[in-house]
Amino acid sequence: MSASAAVRWGVIGHDDVVTSLATAVAAGRVSHSYLITGPQGVGRTALALGLARALNCEAEPANRPCNSCDACRRISRGSHPDVLLVDMAWQEEMIEKPRRGTAQSRRSLSIDTVRFLRQDIATRPMHGRWKLHIVDDASRFSNEAPDAFLKTLEEPPPYAVIVLIASSLDDVSETIRSRCRHIAMGTVSSDIIRATLAARGVDEAQATQLARAARGRIAWALNMANDARMLAARREQIELAFEQVTTPLGRVSISGVIARDASRKRDALLESLSYWTGLWRDALLLRAGLADDVVYPEVADRLAHFARDHDISDLYRALWATQRCVSDLNANVQARIALHAMVMQWPG
Ligand SMILES: [Zn+2]
Repeated sequence: MSASAAVRWGVIGHDDVVTSLATAVAAGRVSHSYLITGPQGVGRTALALGLARALNCEAEPANRPCNSCDACRRISRGSHPDVLLVDMAWQEEMIEKPRRGTAQSRRSLSIDTVRFLRQDIATRPMHGRWKLHIVDDASRFSNEAPDAFLKTLEEPPPYAVIVLIASSLDDVSETIRSRCRHIAMGTVSSDIIRATLAARGVDEAQATQLARAARGRIAWALNMANDARMLAARREQIELAFEQVTTPLGRVSISGVIARDASRKRDALLESLSYWTGLWRDALLLRAGLADDVVYPEVADRLAHFARDHDISDLYRALWATQRCVSDLNANVQARIALHAMVMQWPG
């Protein structure tokens, strides 16, 4: 496949994945259910939308997706009637609000959403040849939802393609997994990310820094580079996380106010945990003299100073405890307990 075709799909750094999907589309070997796995921000949604455009594009087969026909443009704008991108925001807007008058903030994709999808997929596409449901992400299905979804996966109408997105295979129940064609998207190398950013006019220092911080998530890097407010917010977050990790007062706030608000602000907590994990990893690298590989060069000097006072084994234990906290939270251990246990393992 030519490089321009990969570009037309709007997916950067996953040429092999795009090639095999494009080949399948061209040969008419389209699966009715796909499961795309990979870390958030590597381009999973971009791939799903590329597939949607390739399937419903109105141009000659060899030029699909053309990105300029009505179908391609509608899909890119999110206004194609046969291509549905279902996520938590969609659920709030389309299912929760009309039903209850207000949006309820849920943490999972509800049985009501699955019922809606089941009915919608049973109706033929309005404009396109194919009807696509893209679910981002499938790990958010509530407990009873996958079973309700199975029938659709087992007997999809001939025009239907369901694309499930998840971080890893473990996030999706075996029954769903076994009925989907699996597409694994790895992370994108930081060289490709840096080159992509540079090609879009991001200055070199910034591109290098973002490429490193992205840890393979190219969509994340592109979003960051385009948004000065997100960049500023990120810098603030790093400073805050640095205080939390390295000062007694910061740790008190983790055991106190952060633990108290954990259930209301779960996403914010998980984000903080990813900063803390990154900082402890950086501390280890700096202690080992590997300054080039740090993810947060913004605070590297101060972090190196902090790390110098601690044994490598202490830093390693702190990193391990922080990762452990994430898995505890995912296993529904009480946040107060998980956070306290984590902080107790952090060296003073
Ligand atoms: Zn097109």
